[in-house]
Amino acid sequence: MSSTAVSTLAHGRSYLAIPGPSVIPDEVQRAMHRASPNIYAGELIDLTATVAGDLRKVARTRHNVAIYIANGHGAWEAALANVLEPGDRVLVPATGRFGIGWGEMAAGLGAEVTLLDHGRSSNWDLDRIAQALRQDQAHQIRAVLAVHVDTSSSIRNDVLALRRLLDELEHPALLMADCIASLGCDRFEMDAWGVDVMVTACQKGLMVPAGVSFVFFNDKAAQRRASLNRVSLYWDWTPRANPQEFYQYFGGTAPTHHMYGLRAALDMILAEGMEQVWTRHETLAKAIWAACETWEEGGHLRLNVRDRAIRSHAVTALNMPAPGGRDLRSWTEQNLGLTLGIGLGMATAEDPAGDGFLRFGHMGHVNGQMILALLGGVEAGLAALSIPRGTGAVEAAARVLAGA
Ligand SMILES: *Cc1c(COP(=O)(O)O)cnc(C)c1O
Repeated sequence: MSSTAVSTLAHGRSYLAIPGPSVIPDEVQRAMHRASPNIYAGELIDLTATVAGDLRKVARTRHNVAIYIANGHGAWEAALANVLEPGDRVLVPATGRFGIGWGEMAAGLGAEVTLLDHGRSSNWDLDRIAQALRQDQAHQIRAVLAVHVDTSSSIRNDVLALRRLLDELEHPALLMADCIASLGCDRFEMDAWGVDVMVTACQKGLMVPAGVSFVFFNDKAAQRRASLNRVSLYWDWTPRANPQEFYQYFGGTAPTHHMYGLRAALDMILAEGMEQVWTRHETLAKAIWAACETWEEGGHLRLNVRDRAIRSHAVTALNMPAPGGRDLRSWTEQNLGLTLGIGLGMATAEDPAGDGFLRFGHMGHVNGQMILALLGGVEAGLAALSIPRGTGAVEAAARVLAGA
């Protein structure tokens, strides 16, 4: 091949390895590929009831779920609109861009936000959160906005430990969890962990194209909703969670095709089993870490989260001197058909465009051979760009998958 020949190595099935939207299974695509169904009678009505029930199984809750035609940002606002009034205080222990973003949304609704910014590579400092809660002797803090996995940093926080802290301090604030990145990837137990409100969306662990999101809420949160003077009619979760008429699930026309896609995705998740789904993500994440920790030996590429115990199993954030991240991303996309995630909210004084960062999404419909392709593709990109790295990274990952 002459040096001027155009490489067509990217031809073939491409792979979007970003932390959402995730890979859509063929089963989900096939389920969605259909003419519009009747929304007044027939199959869709029954199917939607089973979707709501099975979503609870995935969230590990016997409580309520409200469905919204919205992305994750819509679920953020929906959840807040049902529990906050202007002037209410919320506590936001942020461990990345998404925690900060949820807090900004609360501020936009008129809440007073106390932000505990933990930076971009640390998990919650429970002592710091305890201090903020103790200072609030009048119990003005209505809710703690807790992002389980912050997709920008790939930090995974301990939601159960936060529940125990609230109990120990006898603080009545609602515990609200953002599981948009973690649901169906990292272990999450809404009821056992005492979460009052949980928000998630369909395009990450749930493997469906973006467009539908969910707010789960327990009785304590429902009581709070009932005590508010008013809630916007569209965001109100009450009729959505207990619809008398089919249209009330959605506040209007059903997201017909999403319901079919979700039905297929939930079938896949429940057939595999929640424990198995979590174990698969954990093993795949460990294979990725083994490769990344080997590359790190070159002194260039660096995992954003040092401690394995607080790394998400759904997303991995990395950095290297700019513009290494950007160059690697373009190389793998153009030359291999492999798209890696950009850095999000990671700009620094030295790297104002965040070009040193990249993220791997490994959420949902991913298996061992896909992860090896991801890592092999990155290995090729590092070689093509002469980025210093330790050797044997893909082999280290293969050993994890082999259990050897
Ligand atoms: C993706 C994501 C969001 C935002 O969801 P959108 O669907 O993009 O609005 C919020 N929080 C977390 C943790 C996410 O991963």
